[in-house]
Amino acid sequence: MNLVLLGAPGVGKGTQAKLIMKKYSIPQISTGDILREAVRVHTPLGLKAQEYMNKGLLVPDEVVIGIIEDRLKSQDCEKGFILDGFPRTIPQAESLANAMRRLNMSLDHVINFELDEDILIKRLSGRRICEGCGTMYNVYFNPSSEDTVCNLCGKNLFQRKDDHLETIQERLKVYRAQTMPLIDYYKTKNKLVTMHLDGTEGPDLIFDQFCNLVES
Ligand code: AMP
Repeated sequence: MNLVLLGAPGVGKGTQAKLIMKKYSIPQISTGDILREAVRVHTPLGLKAQEYMNKGLLVPDEVVIGIIEDRLKSQDCEKGFILDGFPRTIPQAESLANAMRRLNMSLDHVINFELDEDILIKRLSGRRICEGCGTMYNVYFNPSSEDTVCNLCGKNLFQRKDDHLETIQERLKVYRAQTMPLIDYYKTKNKLVTMHLDGTEGPDLIFDQFCNLVES
């Protein structure tokens, strides 16, 4: 199963991708995670990406497109994959289509998650991540009982640089201008399935709905 997860930052694509990965044994390919790791270890890619990421802007298409084509060639993508955070622009979607054609692959579904912007802002601004085990918390919806340290491993929680309010507003602006056009793009290709969320459903319930959609 070859999937694209679409939706604004904070909608929960990453959480759903992890559940899909576990159930269907296909890898999650998150360009955000790949770029953050490149920044962390100071590769040339990371150095190029960092200034855009810190400002909440998209990394230039030619930089991210190269990452994806290489990744799709890996053996673990043979049974399928979940693209999380890619494509984010029409040129990225077109180069994905070209790369998949070259690799003899096709997309099965593009899942578009929708959620009100005020909830997205709380999800992003409240997000805290454990520096030890990576567990995610949210100061509004799912706080750690230990406040600034992880319930599970006791390590410190940190906030992503791009989860500060000003950068969040920029990321949402970028999403509306550059990524939302993909909704129509995939609609006209008959690939799009939209899931309207209201913010009260837990990840497991959303995942059940997702499974019903793709298995029906
Ligand atoms: P994410 O974790 O998906 O919210 O991505 C964090 C940041 O990484 C974004 O704000 C962008 O700066 C960068 N990024 C991730 N995916 C892409 C992409 N497909 N195209 C351009 N920039 C990206």
